[in-house]
Amino acid sequence: MTDSVVQLKCGVKQDPWGKQGQESLAGQLWAKTAGSTGVSNDEMYSEMWMGTYPTVPSHILRTGESLENYLKRKPDLIGRSVKEKFADSIPFLPKVLSFAKALPLQVHPNKRLAEDLNLKDPDTFGDTNHKPEIAVALSEFELFAGFKPLADIEALMKLKPLSQFVPANASLDDELLRQITKKFLQLPPEAVRDLVTQLHSLPKAEFGAKHEYVPDLLERVSKQYSESDNGALVAVLLMNYMVLQPGEAVCVPADSIHAYLKGDILECMARSDNVLATGFCPRADRNNVELFAKTLSFKPHNIDQAQLGRKKSERGEKQKTYEYAPPFSEFNVLATILDAGDEERHRAIGGPSIAIVTKGSAELVIEGKEKLQAHEGSVWFVGAGVPLEILSKEGTEVYRAYAE
Ligand SMILES: [Zn+2]
Repeated sequence: MTDSVVQLKCGVKQDPWGKQGQESLAGQLWAKTAGSTGVSNDEMYSEMWMGTYPTVPSHILRTGESLENYLKRKPDLIGRSVKEKFADSIPFLPKVLSFAKALPLQVHPNKRLAEDLNLKDPDTFGDTNHKPEIAVALSEFELFAGFKPLADIEALMKLKPLSQFVPANASLDDELLRQITKKFLQLPPEAVRDLVTQLHSLPKAEFGAKHEYVPDLLERVSKQYSESDNGALVAVLLMNYMVLQPGEAVCVPADSIHAYLKGDILECMARSDNVLATGFCPRADRNNVELFAKTLSFKPHNIDQAQLGRKKSERGEKQKTYEYAPPFSEFNVLATILDAGDEERHRAIGGPSIAIVTKGSAELVIEGKEKLQAHEGSVWFVGAGVPLEILSKEGTEVYRAYAE
């Protein structure tokens, strides 16, 4: 039996912003791995984590051993180049997320800030690493990512209730945008509530065709936590609002502002769990607004910059594989989409990878010999240097995150 391709048993999180029972793709996929007890329709399921991160670690399904420990015993499965660059661990963390309301408005600190925060407050910031991330839509996916173009924000800030936030005769630049973000986040609850009400009562035409969605969306998201959630002002008025279809993706570099609103996604990030959150969460859970504002970067600054395209990957010998290649070195993600009876062959990858079947079922053939049965929800660790054949039995989708 090969030890380079092993099926994993993953953990699931149950945050209150998740989706309920069968509605949650994260819950459904998690429950289909043999050994788990199934989803309960009374419970929320938010995130299935795949990999070696210690708070929600994966285990080898067959033996129950932690993947972390397994790789310590078999370091060759990591591959030399990844070992040299990232030591003996998988440098990325894939997750499936399902959410019915906004996730916290957040940034993930860059490496320098992460080291600093970890030194000062290791309980809140457990990692010294940065956490750039990508999110691939598995269903329709609504989100906010990065800031709108300055010209768009400038136009919105001319609306009567908002003009008080821009100094007279000032022209908008990123530093002023940072100040406006900070002011929105520091408003007391009554002021947030007033502003939302005033904006919602303006005639839609005043927002202009491009921003007609603003008053209704503002009302919708401001009610998800409380009518006085400061995150709603920042997200709806200042950030890019996007609706992605399955297969489309977004790229969130370190220090980049984002808030995911609704959908099911495959997320992949550098191995870290650091987050600064200032909205769409209970007030008590908010981090320091000063620090949040200081950390903000202004990339992306429009929808095109925020989107991450995919292209046919040379990894797939039969051209049935796409690749998402973000501009950071910790990981890329492959997506293999097959009809019933189709097959694909992934060339060997020089580093570790984690694959999940999000749809259908398939036979995995390892080095032309061993055959493994994969089905919707099954998750596999694939070691460095192993070619992998995927023979689809029905319409099958496999996502595979890897480092090299
Ligand atoms: Zn994030």
